Amino acid sequence: MSKRMEMKCHYCGGQLKGGKTEYNSPMGIIIRGVPALICTSCGKAYITGQVAEILDKIEDFVDEKLKEATAIVQTET
Ligand SMILES: [Zn+2]
Repeated sequence: MSKRMEMKCHYCGGQLKGGKTEYNSPMGIIIRGVPALICTSCGKAYITGQVAEILDKIEDFVDEKLKEATAIVQTET
């Protein structure tokens, strides 16, 4: 992978620059400081494939832990 991708914003055609964004997962988790490409003109954030995969793994992990936590609460009450 030596060729640099020329990426442009789908909405306004602006330049994309590496930065950080906040990710709201469907299960209600907000992950801050997620590396993403940010449009320099409209501020739209693009999460790339590999980062999205990692976010998926985080969600799976958290989902599993939440199930464990739920089990603890249910046995305690
Ligand atoms: Zn844009």
